[in-house]
Amino acid sequence: MAELGPSPLAAGNELPVAVARQAIADALRPITERETVPLLTALGRVLAEDVVSPIDVPAHDNSAMDGYAFRGAELCTDSPTSLVVTGPTVLAGMLLDQPVQPGQCVRIMTGAVMPAGLDTVVPQELCQVAEGRVSLAAGVLRAGENRRKQGEDLARGKPALTAGRLLGPAELGLVASLGIAELRVLRRLRVALFSTGNELRTLGQPLDEGCIYDSNRYSLMGALARLGVEVIDLGLVPDDPARLAATLDEAIARADVVLTSGGVSVGDADHTKDLLASRGEVAFWKVAMRPGRPFAFGPLHGGSAKTAWLFALPGNPVAALVTYYVFARDALLALAGAQPRPLPSLKARSVAAIRKRPGRSEFQRAIVSPAAEGGWEVRLTGAQGAGILRSMTEANALVVLGHEQGSVAVGDEVSVWLFEGLV
Ligand code: AMP
Ligand code: MG
Repeated sequence: MAELGPSPLAAGNELPVAVARQAIADALRPITERETVPLLTALGRVLAEDVVSPIDVPAHDNSAMDGYAFRGAELCTDSPTSLVVTGPTVLAGMLLDQPVQPGQCVRIMTGAVMPAGLDTVVPQELCQVAEGRVSLAAGVLRAGENRRKQGEDLARGKPALTAGRLLGPAELGLVASLGIAELRVLRRLRVALFSTGNELRTLGQPLDEGCIYDSNRYSLMGALARLGVEVIDLGLVPDDPARLAATLDEAIARADVVLTSGGVSVGDADHTKDLLASRGEVAFWKVAMRPGRPFAFGPLHGGSAKTAWLFALPGNPVAALVTYYVFARDALLALAGAQPRPLPSLKARSVAAIRKRPGRSEFQRAIVSPAAEGGWEVRLTGAQGAGILRSMTEANALVVLGHEQGSVAVGDEVSVWLFEGLV
């Protein structure tokens, strides 16, 4: 079982984000069970093995343009080139069955197979056609231009995609171009999700005095849907040890990952800790970050050596989502067997100063927009409280201020994660 190392809590330390992320990454082993799926249902799945190309793509040299095909060796370099047009137009999907003689050219359409002996295509807009001849000025074309070569996209016998590839639209098209109709993929990662807290109510229930609606399950369900994992929704669980134990055991039995929110902050942690201690080796971390300090992670064991990984996120709605992106998202992709794909970030100039002390990471809600002078600029949205979910919906990005970073001056560049494709 993965060793999470001595608890930094013992020394009263806060754990840097990077250390926590590394400890998680080191502990996880990807799932290995595979299945075969039709290509059309493979979007978002992870390839279990390399896809080796059974054919050359394209299968023949072919034209990249609508124009006239001829022998590049016949191009004159210091005077116009003139060629006699012969034969029928070569259309895509058709093979020209008569030879093209020296001094001749043939009209050809994009994607059509290059007739034998011809290696160059002059696009129709670069030549003049009159009285059965094509002429083109010196210097407009080089020999071999506008010809796509056999196998230039994919060579037969070479891996077209490697194991661990997360299949997107382009990958589906590439596999189809090889004539492959089914793929071996890893089974979907199963993630059990529940919220904890006596004060929480489910949609449709009346909102009792002092209660709030459970919003984390909806945010997290959305985030998990983007990841393409199979979600097992275990609903809402009150802070009741017996109910928590039963839900936890069901989650361990059914899922690879147990994702919870709430119940790991100092006040709650004691009874949650006892419960988890009896089922695995979960570390409770105080992470040096804002929002999202309390966080727990580790393996939980069920019957017949079944292990599930617990990611216990803080309850505050912004903290829950931010810690999901910081700790859970990459880890779930790794567990699902996918090659790493870090969240895309970009640099933007801060239009205002941002106060920040070194020694913790901060993830502040912000609006990124194109700067008048080019590039991007970023301004923070208003209140940054960890419970203010509106700050996420009013923002379009998170400003990511690293552990060592100090205050930001006006005009300094900062890293941002765009919500587009993220939240
Ligand atoms: P906790 O981490 O359980 O101490 O919760 C911290 C704060 O987040 C409290 O104000 C909770 O009411 C709130 N909270 C916890 N879980 C949820 C949830 N699922 N949806 C919305 N707010 C929550
Ligand atoms: Mg709670």
